[in-house]
Amino acid sequence: MNDDALLDRLEAAIGTDALRYCYQPKVSLSDGKLRRVEALIRWDDEVHGTIGPDRFIPLAEENGLIDSLTRWGLDTAFRQWREWTDQGIECELAFNISARSLEALDFPDLVEAKTAEYGVPASCLVLELTEGSTQTLINLMDTLTRFRIKGIGLAIDDFGTGYSTLKLLRMLPFTELKIDRFFVRDAERSMDSRVIVEAMIGLAHGLGLSATAEGIENDAQLSLMKALGCDLAQGYRIGRPLDAAALPDWQRDWMQEWETLRL
Ligand code: C2E
Ligand code: MG
Ligand code: MG
Repeated sequence: MNDDALLDRLEAAIGTDALRYCYQPKVSLSDGKLRRVEALIRWDDEVHGTIGPDRFIPLAEENGLIDSLTRWGLDTAFRQWREWTDQGIECELAFNISARSLEALDFPDLVEAKTAEYGVPASCLVLELTEGSTQTLINLMDTLTRFRIKGIGLAIDDFGTGYSTLKLLRMLPFTELKIDRFFVRDAERSMDSRVIVEAMIGLAHGLGLSATAEGIENDAQLSLMKALGCDLAQGYRIGRPLDAAALPDWQRDWMQEWETLRL
């Protein structure tokens, strides 16, 4: 499908069942408990099947569709968070945002209005920005600072895969560093990657940020990240991106599993 056709279908999909969120758990490496879920968008097109976010998010960004997608996303994920809270599941919510959305100066006010509408405390929300997009973020210092003033957390996603990272990390008001899964995967067998991961965790802590390891796929990686002092962990070994309704069962099963892990 060419880009124009894809965009037309995407526009039509917003607000329908074709677009939905999956939620991937992030757990604390000190006690295994669920700390946060990351909302990950899914698009199941009836003709073309499942289309990955890596394909359509950049298109939406480039063609003026990202704002309506983000608005829909905030409504959907916040409503879901509310539902879990009402069921007694305590967790924070991580939400991916594009640098494009940050270009609108009133974006922090929109997010704040939505948190108020759904009763999501600002302290329960973390916005994830990918490092590749942070180059323009330097101009968006104001917007990011506004989020921090409102008490909303900011994570730098996929850390280690972009450019000028150290400078940006020092200048922008992040609260969390997410180590890209490439380094996590390699750390088990490559001493170099292990040294890099250890340095990233030290860097995060030295700057007052928490460190999250992405893409944990096995026990060895889980145990290594814990030994290296990483705070939070996310990945298929802990939980794949889940349908919202599956979170309570996942939480029960995972806590039982954690007890047997002896990390
Ligand atoms: P991300 O924010 O870094 O999300 C993590 C990606 O890694 C997800 O891919 C997730 O399914 C995948 N993943 C998680 N654990 C593992 C693991 O153990 N092994 C492996 N191999 N992969 C793992 P997904 O869902 O395809 O999302 C890709 C990217 O698309 C996300 O990367 C994020 O940058 C972007 N994205 C997703 N949803 C949204 C959204 O609603 N808005 C925006 N702006 N971007 C989104
Ligand atoms: Mg993310
Ligand atoms: Mg990531």
